[in-house]
Amino acid sequence: MAVVEVSTLDTIRDKVEAGERLDFEDGLALFETDDLLALGELAGLARRVRGGDDRVFFVQNLYLNQTNVCRVKCKFCAFAATQKQEHAYTLTPDELVEDALRQRELTGFTEIHMVNGENPHVDFAFYVDTIRKLHEAMPDVHLKCYTASEIHHMTTLSGLSHEEVLRELRDVGLGSLPGGGAEVFADRVRRLVAPGKEHPDFWFRTHDAAHKLGIPTHSTMLYGHVETYEERVDHLLRLRAQQDATGGFLAFVPLAFHPENTVFERRGFRHTTGAEDLKVIAVSRLLLDNVPNIKAYWIMMGMPMAAVALHFGANDVQGTVVREEIFHAAGARTETEQKVEELVRFVREAGRIPVQRDTLYEEIRRW
Ligand code: SF4
Repeated sequence: MAVVEVSTLDTIRDKVEAGERLDFEDGLALFETDDLLALGELAGLARRVRGGDDRVFFVQNLYLNQTNVCRVKCKFCAFAATQKQEHAYTLTPDELVEDALRQRELTGFTEIHMVNGENPHVDFAFYVDTIRKLHEAMPDVHLKCYTASEIHHMTTLSGLSHEEVLRELRDVGLGSLPGGGAEVFADRVRRLVAPGKEHPDFWFRTHDAAHKLGIPTHSTMLYGHVETYEERVDHLLRLRAQQDATGGFLAFVPLAFHPENTVFERRGFRHTTGAEDLKVIAVSRLLLDNVPNIKAYWIMMGMPMAAVALHFGANDVQGTVVREEIFHAAGARTETEQKVEELVRFVREAGRIPVQRDTLYEEIRRW
């Protein structure tokens, strides 16, 4: 009779120590365990076995949202507006550049992180113009702009392919893509939380094309709503397979769902717990053996918890994030500009070495 090996933390530890890849059943066992501290220790081991050291990275960045007008209406989103709503806004490329330059006088950011609603009232030239003008005004600032959903939206606006859209944007200054729009890839979840959003295949098509054009990207998972552990593991393994194929993901960022001001709040959904957030960080580190950086996104979990996450496999706390609107629209109560000194203090007190990086993980300064 064949013996079926059941995944336990011990068998998983053996695999991690031997440099063996974890499988679907291992991922499930990791999510199902209640032994949070053992999970953290295992994730820390995986990080070190795969070459991680004591450095914890952050970037000085500016968050921009050029428009909150969106045609999609994801059920988890508290940020989007229709054109007619009072709080709807769309900045012209010149207004956006002016705003960014004003912010630059206050903080020396090296990266602009920009994501937006899928505005049906602009055309592709609007996006190209925006990137060109930002790049001309700040040639030394890395432009990490537009989720895969927005790139897909631009293909429908322009009739161009994903590759053509990315090529045009790259040629005027786009540096990389953020990882948003991934949500949870499983069809069942997609239907429940984002029925108006394009099929996940387009998320992969965009990132695949970007990597092949030499544009690095980021990856995410928005967890803590209706998804099961199986669907989380499936999501992570799909990302791992893409990374095997093209290798262009710089980092993975788990994003906890914030229910405030969404339909899920009225249905009684609550914030994820700190224990769940730490578990997702740890399992991500363990399963994503080919993604070098796992981010503890302090805007979402708060800096004290992000510092704890450094002992659960995370090695990046994202950035200074001047002004964040999307999670704050959904109730995040963190400061929206975390001062460099504060980031440095938290990282140091977690026993790690704070390193300011650029978007591509080149060191700028080590404290
Ligand atoms: S998550 Fe993005 S695509 Fe969905 S409604 Fe909000 S802004 Fe639109």
